[in-house]
Amino acid sequence: MNLTYLYDQLYRWWECHRRELPWRDTRDAYRIWLSEIILQQTRVQQGLDYYMRFTSRFPDVDSLAAADEQEVLRLWQGLGYYSRARNLYKCAQTIVERGWQPFPTRYEDIRSLPGIGDYTAGAITAFAYDQPYPAMDGNVYRVVARLFDCDIPFDTTQDKRHFHELILRLLDHEHPGLFNAAIMELGALHCTPSLADPETGDVRCTSCPLQTLCLGYQHGTAELLPVRKPRPKLRDRYLNYTIYLAEQDGQRYTLIRQRTERDIWQHLWEFPLVETQNALLPPTPGVPSVELKHILSHQRLYARFEKQTVRELPALEGTRRVALRDLDEYGLSRLTLIALERLL
Ligand code: SF4
Repeated sequence: MNLTYLYDQLYRWWECHRRELPWRDTRDAYRIWLSEIILQQTRVQQGLDYYMRFTSRFPDVDSLAAADEQEVLRLWQGLGYYSRARNLYKCAQTIVERGWQPFPTRYEDIRSLPGIGDYTAGAITAFAYDQPYPAMDGNVYRVVARLFDCDIPFDTTQDKRHFHELILRLLDHEHPGLFNAAIMELGALHCTPSLADPETGDVRCTSCPLQTLCLGYQHGTAELLPVRKPRPKLRDRYLNYTIYLAEQDGQRYTLIRQRTERDIWQHLWEFPLVETQNALLPPTPGVPSVELKHILSHQRLYARFEKQTVRELPALEGTRRVALRDLDEYGLSRLTLIALERLL
């Protein structure tokens, strides 16, 4: 492949089409790391709000490490995949414990931190320090699969290694940060999963800067790539929540418990729960309730929240009595927030 031509085409396209995003104007590894973690499984527009919130509340690793985990989870609320927030916090603490502030600079050190895989370590070292590491996100896998007309799925570690070798053949060792950003952006904006332009119906390849180099385009296979293995079946779960409400001295109180198990929403708080096997429990007659379906990456949740107004809160093991107005001090799942909005 003619790399000089590839870089020339790619960087010209980048100059015309790149989105202005705050984490692109910085070499601050801490901020780049934050943006990378936030943007995993999140659309850029939504991630942007969270990035602004996090960087204004926690401007550096020290302030994040010194925070309370609940505050971090609260700030993360609504973004889902809470293990990312817990790892973010753990990671900041590990950096401080090891005396690596403001942020480690070696790829191996960065890769050894909680929640940082090959992709994030590559992105940080390339964007912040301009070191020659590839940053392979889903968009880059797609572009690479199409450029090389490669029909190997990239679900296993071994498959990923193959793609890693392919991207190493393309990586611009003089400008790794620029190369990674440009190829990621090409995948995000131009070489998208569906190649038909939604406005004009034209196939995007016809206006692609890499068209003459792209084997997938030349062989007519681009739209079929990358190949993915079928997703495992979602596991169904049935969650029966009770929101107890009792009034005392003009204030409403409720019961919540923290999820400590190694399971979804670890360390978040929730209302008393009964999980059932094959279906939700029948609703209690005359009690206001809301039924919600919620899809996570590997699970489909069916949940009912019942609002039980009582004279006194029951003594339930492991729960904490809190004033309803203080509930926003606790990290709650998005599902719980939706139920609260609908029921209270
Ligand atoms: S020619 Fe088409 S498939 Fe190939 S990189 Fe460009 S947009 Fe993607």
